[in-house]
Amino acid sequence: MTFDLILTGGKLLDGTGTPAVSADVGIIGEKIQAIGDLSRAQARRIIPVQGLTVAPGLIDTHTHSEGALLHDPQHAYGLRQGITTEIVGLDGMSWAPLSGPNFRLYARYLGGILGDPPPELDMSSIAAFRAHYHRKVAVNVAYLVPHGALRLELLGFRDLPVRGEKLQAAGRMVRQGIEQGAVGFSTGAAYYPGYWADSRELVEMCRVVRQAGGIYVNEPRVGTPGRAFGGGGIQEGLEIARQSGASVHFAHLRTTEQTAGRLQELTAPIDRAKDQGVDCTMDIYPYPSGSSIAVSFLPGDMQEGGPDAILERLSHPGCRRAFRDHLENRLFAPLEPITFSYLPRNPHLEGKSLAEAARRRETSPTQTLCDLLLEEELKVGYLNAPPSSRALWQAIDRDCLELLARPDAMACSDITPLGSAPHPRCYGAFPRFLGPLRRRHRTLSLETMVQRMTDGPARRFGLTGRGRLRPGYFGDLVAFDPDAVTDTATYEDPVQFPVGIPWVVVNGQVAVEEGRCTGALAGQAVP
Ligand SMILES: [Zn+2]
Repeated sequence: MTFDLILTGGKLLDGTGTPAVSADVGIIGEKIQAIGDLSRAQARRIIPVQGLTVAPGLIDTHTHSEGALLHDPQHAYGLRQGITTEIVGLDGMSWAPLSGPNFRLYARYLGGILGDPPPELDMSSIAAFRAHYHRKVAVNVAYLVPHGALRLELLGFRDLPVRGEKLQAAGRMVRQGIEQGAVGFSTGAAYYPGYWADSRELVEMCRVVRQAGGIYVNEPRVGTPGRAFGGGGIQEGLEIARQSGASVHFAHLRTTEQTAGRLQELTAPIDRAKDQGVDCTMDIYPYPSGSSIAVSFLPGDMQEGGPDAILERLSHPGCRRAFRDHLENRLFAPLEPITFSYLPRNPHLEGKSLAEAARRRETSPTQTLCDLLLEEELKVGYLNAPPSSRALWQAIDRDCLELLARPDAMACSDITPLGSAPHPRCYGAFPRFLGPLRRRHRTLSLETMVQRMTDGPARRFGLTGRGRLRPGYFGDLVAFDPDAVTDTATYEDPVQFPVGIPWVVVNGQVAVEEGRCTGALAGQAVP
């Protein structure tokens, strides 16, 4: 027997959380063929990995890479973190299943986070979506049916409840999507048109998710408490799971500047619900602040009708005043220190705060935000500044690690990859967990942390044949130096690759070689 590839001399973590063993990994085609002493075996290529830990390729349960992958299938910033599989279609916002006109409409609306896809792509089904990635990009891609697309297809950008025949049609779309390979269904915290939903509609859709064997991924809702069980947040997700019977997975839980050190408040309701039989998991990224799109700052009544209607309102003085009042009275008090990550027509303002942009333009922050939304035709990405207090930041780090220590937790990046000043998580999330946070705090063993990034998510999302090093499993591997692996991307300088991750293999093909991408596009639409 001749292997195509052998990684020899490494310490193997098989992904299940058991301690490392010394062994070689032999691959034939896209699968792992043998694990053990392969020192006398024949191989077309042998890569010595002495001193490195060899683990299953990392599985990122929450990214927004679907747009970036179409333009840059090499996907270095994901791959070089050791990520070999990404779940996309998160937060209820992505492009399938949508008719051509609705795809182009939603692409305009989501341009600040997903970028500009080729306009003629077929996104009419989940099968069509998957075909755009299968063996065309560097990482494996799994998809969640996004709630926003269903609502857009059924009702347009309108604040109406989904009921009756429309609700049945939504259920059929969820079922078909899962039959065509989606791993579940997602909803978002504050993104339109999904945000107009009430919990009742989501329970009905989640019943179908359960019947079809998928998982419900909930980004806990903020605002619109009158439409949500328990006023929104994780209470809503737990109650939807309880009533529908669906398994729920919470997107990127963490504490904030306001709740740092009080993890119990987040986990106590989850643990109570689990005691009562709710099947619940979660993911976490290791940063104290997030990133999103500015169009979601607009109140619901300004969102009606979608992009053209929104742009029309933004140019109308009365509507701008109403938006300004909404921002000043409801969201920002005082104006939150946001920094622009993506402004394709004003790239000189990427990396600048809203306050700084307003100073340069000699106008108010809210006027600046309105102007930029207009100039950019809504494509405005931003991130929230991290806390200025080092102690607060470290308290949030400790909370992240305490969450990740839970057996029902997984790691994610929430990659939002556009612009010259993206959130540092795009380049550093996994190495930050594996390196600095693990070594500094010493609360999680390497094997436990790797389990949260491999076998844990593979089981949870039904990614058959992935997440473990076992004969018969796919040849997705990462080899890293556990003492050296470190993120180097920071809030100030975010476009920086990590160090200490020299080898990544995707479906048996070497995708990163001595820290450089090889150009292999071996990713598959999974499962
Ligand atoms: Zn997200």
